[in-house]
Amino acid sequence: MIDLCSQESKPLLSVDEALATIKAAVYAVEESEKVVLKNALGRVLSEPVYSAINSPHDRNAAMDGYAFSSQAISHEQSFTLNLVGTSWAGRPFTGLLQPGQCIRIFTGAVVPEHADSVVMQEQVQVNGQTICFSANTPTGQHIRQVGEDIKQGVLLLAPPKKLNAIDLGLLASAGIDEVTVKRPVRIAFFSTGDELTALGQPLASGQIYDSNRYTLCGLLTDACYRVTDRGVIADNRQLLEESFIEAAKNHDVIITTGGASVGEADYVKEILERCGNVNFWKLAIKPGKPLAFGKIGDCCFFGLPGNPVAVIVTFKYLVAPALRQLSGAPEAKSFQLTATCTMPLKKAPGRQDYQRGILTQDQTGEFFVASSGKQGSNILSSMSHANCYIVLPTECTGVKAGDKVRVDLIGDIDLI
Ligand code: AMP
Ligand code: MG
Repeated sequence: MIDLCSQESKPLLSVDEALATIKAAVYAVEESEKVVLKNALGRVLSEPVYSAINSPHDRNAAMDGYAFSSQAISHEQSFTLNLVGTSWAGRPFTGLLQPGQCIRIFTGAVVPEHADSVVMQEQVQVNGQTICFSANTPTGQHIRQVGEDIKQGVLLLAPPKKLNAIDLGLLASAGIDEVTVKRPVRIAFFSTGDELTALGQPLASGQIYDSNRYTLCGLLTDACYRVTDRGVIADNRQLLEESFIEAAKNHDVIITTGGASVGEADYVKEILERCGNVNFWKLAIKPGKPLAFGKIGDCCFFGLPGNPVAVIVTFKYLVAPALRQLSGAPEAKSFQLTATCTMPLKKAPGRQDYQRGILTQDQTGEFFVASSGKQGSNILSSMSHANCYIVLPTECTGVKAGDKVRVDLIGDIDLI
């Protein structure tokens, strides 16, 4: 790989260029496994699923009411039919329906062979075992036909669908109890830094709590990922090297935070140059300028910056799309929103800013956005208050109140 930013004078690499390089280097996992339907939520289908049955399996009633044959009935006049039985959901009427007869029927119950109409219970008069239907009673209605939802043999879902709750319901309705999905992506993540302190310990001078690992743990919560939290590694060459080599043996991806720039205690660069094939980029993105990406053997390596907000932003725009590609899922598409900015925003040219914002919508449906607070890459509180990023392009030199800006939601929405 070429080190695209080995010299300070080189221009910063754009987010799009970095992402294109990452995506070109990443392959979807090949292996598949069978899982029971209950465990398939969020997994990526790797074989097509066909229906072995029709759904509905039987003609059945769409309403609670009375079923009868409309033949030999004069529609213009009221008519009466003898009630000869009941068809319950799961307990069909077993007799033979004759002209002049009707049965009580409930939603989902099998409609007897000779019946072609179900009339709602609210539209009839019951006189003991005689049911009186008014003139102009609609006939031929409220019957669900065999296979009207799913026809036997039809393709229900095709790879590489990432299965959602509704898909599970669809498959279950066709009796599918097991599916073949891509195996999970195995991801190890570390925090690096001498200053990092575990929760539950008091903070000594110069120490901070390790928040990145908790953020990453949340961001990596996905049925397609099997994550290993490898804890904190001190700024120690040997420990870091051993940890990376060890994790690369049985993971598809390693994600680290911290130590990715070239400060004196930032060993990640020199270690990876020895044991892997890794680019160190200076990205035209704020927050999140330094980023390492490459491979140790077949294992992808992402060295994210240490600052907590830089971790969140680089994860969303550079790591998450790569992990999704590795999982075999189709690219996540997101809504492109434009909002009116309600306040001026400062911005220096040269990097694409992802400023933390609060997006609101007025009664007419128009979107408005404001900053959620201080924008330093260490300020997690304004990130926590935000519900969107205000994306300001590289060349932008600031925003005036009333300007239209691009807004990205923080979480992804799967668009079909
Ligand atoms: P570094 O990239 O190691 O120079 O770290 C940049 C900044 O991020 C420093 O202020 C670190 O203390 C901070 N930082 C690094 N790792 C973490 C972490 N796991 N949790 C919170 N802050 C961190
Ligand atoms: Mg550090």
